[in-house]
Amino acid sequence: MMQLFIPLNFLGFVYREIRGALANIERMFALLARHPGIVDSPTAKDLQLTRGALAFEDVSFSYDERPILQQVSFRLEPGQKVAVVGDSGAGKSTLIKLLFRFYEVQQGAIKIDGEDIRELTQDALRRAIAIVPQDTVLFNDSLYENILYGRPDAGEEEVRQAIDLAHLQDFIQALPQGWDTQVGERGLKLSGGEKQRVAIARAILKGSPLLVFDEATSSLDSRSEQAILTALKAAAHGHTSLMIAHRLSTIVDADKILVLSKGRIVEQGTHQSLLAADGLYAKLWHIQNQGERVNS
Ligand code: ADP
Ligand code: MG
Repeated sequence: MMQLFIPLNFLGFVYREIRGALANIERMFALLARHPGIVDSPTAKDLQLTRGALAFEDVSFSYDERPILQQVSFRLEPGQKVAVVGDSGAGKSTLIKLLFRFYEVQQGAIKIDGEDIRELTQDALRRAIAIVPQDTVLFNDSLYENILYGRPDAGEEEVRQAIDLAHLQDFIQALPQGWDTQVGERGLKLSGGEKQRVAIARAILKGSPLLVFDEATSSLDSRSEQAILTALKAAAHGHTSLMIAHRLSTIVDADKILVLSKGRIVEQGTHQSLLAADGLYAKLWHIQNQGERVNS
């Protein structure tokens, strides 16, 4: 149910997010449902964050009684690519929800460019991060508008560039109406891989210092996966990126891999060092490469 008292600044956020509430009322309800009343503090800073340094400092969190994250600490230096891996239910998506402040940490702090996210306006926080979610929401609008959503004031040339970098140009060219094609529930249905590339194009357009990618769990054919990986590389170029990965083969080149198990970071290192350590990561790697010869 929609609450009666909604903070005005939050309504402002919703309004800007959807560029006119009437355009997509379902989307507004979806957004409202995801923000359980988090309000900017009176002293919240509306900063333009540019470096993309991220730190989780001793973060603990639970949705109810059950601890979900326990004393999680890690850092991403500007420009670094850091991956998080771990079993389903380990708490990977929760890390992202906390980073977006959908929920408040109960202990510890999350900092971007040294600023505690609780001391930032939610606008500043959202400007700082571009996300490619597991499940991309497409609006009942043209493909062009769906990509433009990444940065509504972008020009056509910038949209075209984002489309190229996200490897969507062939797909769009093959459509009779090109980027004017209507998509969404009442339009063209896109495959999982195409949707993720729309999300990547949005993220490229947004150009935030911090890129977050929550890899889809559904299996993609290897061509589609390759297109996504190339697109992601383009999106991450010159930015800091946090990748939640299911297929370990996609993150072997990460600067750092964090292994999450039952809400704790149990190992961290590069692909090579983690294989050498022969712990949980090595075990996951061997399971995923079962039957194949593993060249480490
Ligand atoms: P992962 O992304 O690693 O699969 P999640 O962060 O989604 O894991 O979930 C971690 C744990 O938190 C799971 O046990 C999940 O059931 C639980 N959980 C996730 N969201 C909620 C929620 N909104 N309320 C209660 N428990 C939740
Ligand atoms: Mg998840």
